[in-house]
Amino acid sequence: MSSALVTLRRDFGGDIIEPGGAEYESARRSVLAPGTPAYVLRPQSVGDVQAGVRFAASAGLLLSVRGGGHSFAGFGTNDGGVVIDLGKLATVEIIDKERHLVRIGGGATWGQVAAALAPHGLAISSGDTKSVGVGGLTLAGGIGWKVRKYGLALDNVTAAQVVTAGGEAVPASAEENPELFWAIRGGGGNFGIVTAFEFAAHPTTDVFFGKIAFPAAEAATVLQGWADYLRAAPEELTSIVVFANPFAGGPDAPVEIYVAFDGDDPELAAQAIDPIRRLGTVTGDDVALQPYGDTLEDGGTPPPGIQFAPRSAFADKESVPEVLQILAEVRASERSPFIAIRSLGGAVSRVPGDATAYAHRQAELMIVTTAVGPKPVVEAARPALDAIWARLAPHVNGAYANFLASATEEDVAAIYPAQTHKRLAAVKRQYDPGNLFARNHNVRPR
Ligand SMILES: Cc1cc2nc3c(=O)[nH]c(=O)nc-3n(C[C@H](O)[C@H](O)[C@H](O)COP(=O)(O)OP(=O)(O)OC[C@H]3O[C@@H](n4cnc5c(N)ncnc54)[C@H](O)[C@@H]3O)c2cc1C
Repeated sequence: MSSALVTLRRDFGGDIIEPGGAEYESARRSVLAPGTPAYVLRPQSVGDVQAGVRFAASAGLLLSVRGGGHSFAGFGTNDGGVVIDLGKLATVEIIDKERHLVRIGGGATWGQVAAALAPHGLAISSGDTKSVGVGGLTLAGGIGWKVRKYGLALDNVTAAQVVTAGGEAVPASAEENPELFWAIRGGGGNFGIVTAFEFAAHPTTDVFFGKIAFPAAEAATVLQGWADYLRAAPEELTSIVVFANPFAGGPDAPVEIYVAFDGDDPELAAQAIDPIRRLGTVTGDDVALQPYGDTLEDGGTPPPGIQFAPRSAFADKESVPEVLQILAEVRASERSPFIAIRSLGGAVSRVPGDATAYAHRQAELMIVTTAVGPKPVVEAARPALDAIWARLAPHVNGAYANFLASATEEDVAAIYPAQTHKRLAAVKRQYDPGNLFARNHNVRPR
């Protein structure tokens, strides 16, 4: 046994899962990726995380960090290395009732957070799925159902505790290690393992939530009308449009506009949502008042072999008409991917561009295409997808790290514009000079 392993067994109080062990089969994979790591470590304490990090560093093994395990790029597992699975660090604790400050373990999921905060009338704007992890989503952004009112998930982080590559547990906030605090809000898992986040939650009532459907043939006018309306709509309204859904008819699939109105006043909700209903011929409308937690989907693990390969980019105001025109044309083709467009603006765009490492503050929309199916199907779809993105390229910018299935140099450059990248690389040099945390959209130390 190597001395690194001897030390791990001495210092680590959680589970050490190895090939052949009873739990290995379920522990080795993340939600969207298979893997054959040599060790899956499940820490129960910050001390365990420190021991796990030191082990990976001294054994010279590739390290994956797993929060909720939903990375599309499969960052939460690897072949032959170490996975530190934070699933046992999942407590959700209100630490200041007046200021609504909540401390959340680095391995919690958004479903756990919503369930724990609901009895207190609180919520944190996060994403749309219960099983997605607080860690991965927050460190790279966090675009949820209240994003226009409360900003990205990372905009609501007030502090964090980070175990760095040297195995030290350091605080990060506006007062303590402010550059690290800047970097972890957008820079992903590059700088260490966040064992706990502190968030400022916001009061929530039940919310009006549901989808309004329009015929595929009306896509062009509905999309343009939706984007024009969202520009001036109350920030209580957040919306996502999905179309060309392969599970609902592909080119014939309806255009479905999801709406989330943050409030329980039916008149205000109708005032905010009715202009969307007037965009075309409504063929379905299930908008109803419901607890905020019920707006989140359960998620789930796709059948083995089924891949989800999203690509994403942002559209600023002046490009929106062109982008929507292209997407309306694309969706009519048999080879169209599944397309989703998320509304941004509002609180996201009021945060100064250099306040966090998330760099796409001025985008009005985020575009996501997703190729879905067994690997050969997803691969066969690539040329058509490349052609679509080539058409979009002059009109879109950047990429959203959380909706990418790849991690190329080009992806990293799209996520982090040059100035942001340079500053991140300097922080990386300070906290992870040997690039231990490399299984991510990697920023190499400068
Ligand atoms: C079904 C589904 C729905 C989604 N919906 C949304 C949505 O509505 N809005 C949105 O913005 N995104 C959404 N996403 C994207 C999601 O934000 C990313 O997939 C994200 O990476 C998931 O985080 P995770 O912790 O579950 O993943 P993991 O695979 O566990 O983590 C991904 C990476 O994040 C880093 N990481 C995770 N936790 C920590 C930690 N505590 N400390 C340090 N590094 C850490 C590591 O580098 C890790 O490899 C969705 C994804 C899926 C699959």
